[in-house]
Amino acid sequence: MRGVLQDIDTLRRTSERMQASEVRFERIFHSLPIPLGFVRDDTGQFVDVNPAWEQALEYSREECIGHSMVDLNIYSQATRVQLRQKAMANGQLVAHENELRTRSGTLLTVLQSMSPIEVAGQSCWLISVLDITGRKKQESLVREREELLSLTISAASIGLWDWDLHAGTIGGDARWHGMHGRAPDHDDQADALPWETGVTGAQLGMIEHVLHEHILDPSVPFDVTWRIAPPQAPTRWLRNVGKIVKWDSHGVPERMLGVSIDVTLQHEQQELLHHMAHYDALTGLPNRVLLQQRLRAALDAAGASGSSLALAYIDLDALKAVNDSMGHEVGDRLLVQVAGRLQRALRPTDSVARLSGDEFAVMLSDLGDRESAEKRLRVLMEAVGKPYDLEGVCLDLTASVGYTYFPEDTADTDTLLRHADQAMYQAKQAGGNRLRAFDSVEEMARQTLVEQRDRFEDAINNGELALYLQPKINVRTGEVVGAEALVRWEHPEHGLILPGSFLHVIDGTELEVKFSEWAMDAVLLHIEDFKREGLEMQISINIDAERLRHREFANWVLSHLERHPRVSPRQLDLEITENAALYDVTHVARELTQLRAVGVSVSLDDFGTGYSSLAYLRRLPIDQLKLDQSYVRGMMHDAADQAIVQGVIGLARSFGYRIVAEGVESVEQGVLLARMGCPIVQGHVVSPPMSAEHFADWVRCWQAPQAWREAARRTSEEPLPLV
Ligand code: C2E
Ligand code: MG
Ligand code: MG
Repeated sequence: MRGVLQDIDTLRRTSERMQASEVRFERIFHSLPIPLGFVRDDTGQFVDVNPAWEQALEYSREECIGHSMVDLNIYSQATRVQLRQKAMANGQLVAHENELRTRSGTLLTVLQSMSPIEVAGQSCWLISVLDITGRKKQESLVREREELLSLTISAASIGLWDWDLHAGTIGGDARWHGMHGRAPDHDDQADALPWETGVTGAQLGMIEHVLHEHILDPSVPFDVTWRIAPPQAPTRWLRNVGKIVKWDSHGVPERMLGVSIDVTLQHEQQELLHHMAHYDALTGLPNRVLLQQRLRAALDAAGASGSSLALAYIDLDALKAVNDSMGHEVGDRLLVQVAGRLQRALRPTDSVARLSGDEFAVMLSDLGDRESAEKRLRVLMEAVGKPYDLEGVCLDLTASVGYTYFPEDTADTDTLLRHADQAMYQAKQAGGNRLRAFDSVEEMARQTLVEQRDRFEDAINNGELALYLQPKINVRTGEVVGAEALVRWEHPEHGLILPGSFLHVIDGTELEVKFSEWAMDAVLLHIEDFKREGLEMQISINIDAERLRHREFANWVLSHLERHPRVSPRQLDLEITENAALYDVTHVARELTQLRAVGVSVSLDDFGTGYSSLAYLRRLPIDQLKLDQSYVRGMMHDAADQAIVQGVIGLARSFGYRIVAEGVESVEQGVLLARMGCPIVQGHVVSPPMSAEHFADWVRCWQAPQAWREAARRTSEEPLPLV
């Protein structure tokens, strides 16, 4: 009995233990994050699934229990049969790669395991799956990339290399070896070579430099193109791009991986393009572009060493005639021969270029002096000037040469070429077949003149010019009888500038025309302004020679008068000079007559300083003579000058001209002039030229000096004072 009770107790405890372990298993089953499920061996129906399974396959436990994987379309019947067979054969299935379809149709790649288990007396399988879908995708992506990379490498003919920086050796794949002229079966590191193999000496330094840069900043790849000359293979250009991938424990770079790209074709094309861009196709000589580069370098070198150089422009004198009479082909052959002769006549440090049609440029460096440059240029001219044999026709040719000499002429390359061209042009103008030097002093003067003209034009446009007025007085009456307009440049920086400093700059230029337009308008405007103020004033304007000789001079004055209808022509006086008037006296006389007919008056300025004969003078239709200030100045102490003044006054009287004395600086001069019969005076004694704004006020306040008023009272018959 005791034994039976013990057995019952053991059974009860065993049963309790079993129940406890079932509970534990249940807990583990439900909490494991691995999808697990029990299926019956005979029907394949689910007995149970854990939450991880529900989540992975998207079926709830209730939906699974009582249905098989085939029912739920997780996989096919054939797969179930196949898996079961495998599991049965081995007693279990371990990590078999399989595909499961979830409820939403997503295919999962899993590693499926199956272990036999008995559940409530039923033979079942415990199925567990490990989802490897993500990993599989990654793997296939990596595979695709590898394939693409290998395709790219083979399509781009890229060679892979592996540089052992410690050992100084480099090896590579079959294509890399091929690039180095070796059979393609070399494809491992065992065939590694010293890295300099095949690299030409001049490039080693450059490669080492780039490597050094890459070591200093590994984020910038090592990228160098160099030329290799493998023993039995043609020279190639390889672009090598690499990156250090390993550093030793001391921080010294150990290994660099990279690729070589054969860029020989591109390089050759670049060279061809470079050649086309820098050389003349017909003669093979450098063209303008290359010449300028060489010139720039030569100028730098000459500047640094203090040596000199000459740049010459050579123009063939009769190429056009050859082309016209013998055809362009013959002309071309002639040019080739000329190019050859020029080249042969030069030293290796010199350069010749063809600039265009029949123009060549020559650069001679390391010259002793200007004479040696000329000597060598004459040798070139002689070489060009020797007879040519063109298909049996003997031809003579000459050249015009112009040159400029550095450092006397210091300018940029373009300007030096232009200077040489200018000198060549002068050689041509002088009849050709000669040598001319560029004159830098003359050029500088020309340049300054151009700048001055530009500045003067600005002055007109910016309103910096002003007409000043200088009154003319009748000593006898003290009356203001008129005024002369004299231009002033009110320069913003240099102050008041007198006409003597700028009129010569515009002499004979278009600018002079512009200036005369401005002056005539300004004079007529002043007359109008004075009229408005109740001041009737005659103003004299100085007329430049160019304007006076113009075919349409009279019309020009008349058209201006028309634009100012309030001005009476009598209020306008034109001051002309003898020399300008006598240049074409018939034409000038005709024009002046036309103007005098409408009332405009004419004065002959600076009388006595020109070279006119009285006969010519008589032909000029004038109203007034202006006695030059040099005689006025001299007459007080020089009897001869006084005699001239007296003579001129007599002449004026007999011709019926009025007379004005200019440059009168003292009261005594005024008295004397009035006594001699010239009572109209202009000069500093009255007033220097003044700004037009002050003129009207000045006239109102003007009072003649006491001496003049007294002199006016006396008779003019008084004897002249002796000097
Ligand atoms: P010009 O027509 O013979 O003018 C007389 C010059 O003598 C003026 O010089 C005047 O300032 C100066 N002068 C007047 N009184 C005296 C004096 O008492 N003593 C001295 N030493 N000089 C005196 P400016 O203004 O320098 O003009 C010089 C020349 O420039 C003028 O000689 C004239 O030929 C020319 N000019 C001036 N303005 C114009 C203009 O608007 N157009 C043109 N085409 N020429 C002008
Ligand atoms: Mg004058
Ligand atoms: Mg004068």
